[in-house]
Amino acid sequence: MKAVVYQEPFEVAVEEVEDARIEASTDVVVRITSTAICGSDLHMYEGRTDAEPGIVFGHENMGVVEEVGSGVASLRKGDRVVLPFNVACGFCENCEARQTAFCLTVNPGYAGGAYGYVGMGPYPGGQAEYLRVPFADFNALKLPPGDDHEADFAMLADIFPTGYHATEMAEVKPGDTVAVYGAGPVGLMAAYSAQLRGAERVFVVDKVANRLELAEQQIGAIPVNFAEVDPVEYIVDQTDGLGSDKGIDAVGYQATVSDSNEEQPAVVLNQLVGTVRHTGLIGTVGLYLSSDPGAPSDEAKHGRLLLEMGRFFEKGLRMGTGQANSKNYNRELRDLIIAGRARPSFVVSKQLPLDEAPDAYHRFDQREEGYSKVVLQP
Ligand code: NAD
Ligand code: ZN
Repeated sequence: MKAVVYQEPFEVAVEEVEDARIEASTDVVVRITSTAICGSDLHMYEGRTDAEPGIVFGHENMGVVEEVGSGVASLRKGDRVVLPFNVACGFCENCEARQTAFCLTVNPGYAGGAYGYVGMGPYPGGQAEYLRVPFADFNALKLPPGDDHEADFAMLADIFPTGYHATEMAEVKPGDTVAVYGAGPVGLMAAYSAQLRGAERVFVVDKVANRLELAEQQIGAIPVNFAEVDPVEYIVDQTDGLGSDKGIDAVGYQATVSDSNEEQPAVVLNQLVGTVRHTGLIGTVGLYLSSDPGAPSDEAKHGRLLLEMGRFFEKGLRMGTGQANSKNYNRELRDLIIAGRARPSFVVSKQLPLDEAPDAYHRFDQREEGYSKVVLQP
């Protein structure tokens, strides 16, 4: 089958790889109809991780069940499904506690699994014609048959529940003012989720004009261009000097990386400490890498950042972090889409054949206009 395979930094290719097949009785194989490129793929694409050449990318997958293992109870050939990006078992201690991003079964030694991601277990990605889905009764969410809402449902694999998870960690409530850093697909979904939860005002901070326009025009968020104004001063000023009730980091360490090996500030987190009012909450879904404390290298520089802990403490702030437990939200979010009450596909700018992946990666990585969120359709 054909798949998107990592070659070297800034280079992927569409190549023939071994077919996806049933390996355990609890697996299904899905024929992929939509698979999106994610900002998280760019960490590997840009060579900032130790992803090996040959890895098949793709954790935002949906399609139609093609083959069913003998131990699968709830799925039939022909079912249309979306696959939450976390691979999880459903029965370990963490899964039972709804912490499916930290499943203890699927990735021994490192809690948590995902398709097509370095360090997240032996699960090839779905930017391919077919995908093996482990523990399929747990990891596949059924969708209505046909091809309605294809682009909306594709967002259920990751960015819609991830944006929603950020608002859950920040406990966004009706009437809240929320500051979202990052107007990438994840930040836009966090802003959108905040509105679904009844936030009164949502600020979205970025410097990419076409992304800020999406935030303003599609969902009525207040755009803040950090290349033009100091976002902390601006938002504090707009909230009567108090700061926003809640804050969301949808950027991660990428705001911080420079070539220097000196310790650097956690840029976005420190801005959030300045932006959010006393006793407010912060939801961090932007990715931060772990680092080996002894490493003099890239790893240390990406993983050990300086947080203004004194300010954080003084303001009585709280923060949630981590991979999103996408499984917790995707059923309800699916039902909002079916009911016509959510349309997350407003972020999707392109649906392209798999063969165009190398070019699409390049353009998404360059934040080119029209490439805010790319969905590949094998
Ligand atoms: P993206 O790279 O497309 O978007 C990030 C945006 O942040 C860009 O538009 C960039 O211009 C902006 N930005 C950079 N520096 C900034 C700053 N100082 N202030 C404000 N904005 C700034 O990525 P994405 O797909 O939107 O994903 C965002 C982050 O979320 C990534 O780190 C990704 O790995 C992570 N992510 C986490 C989860 C999870 O489960 N926790 C899931 C999906 C993605
Ligand atoms: Zn993703």
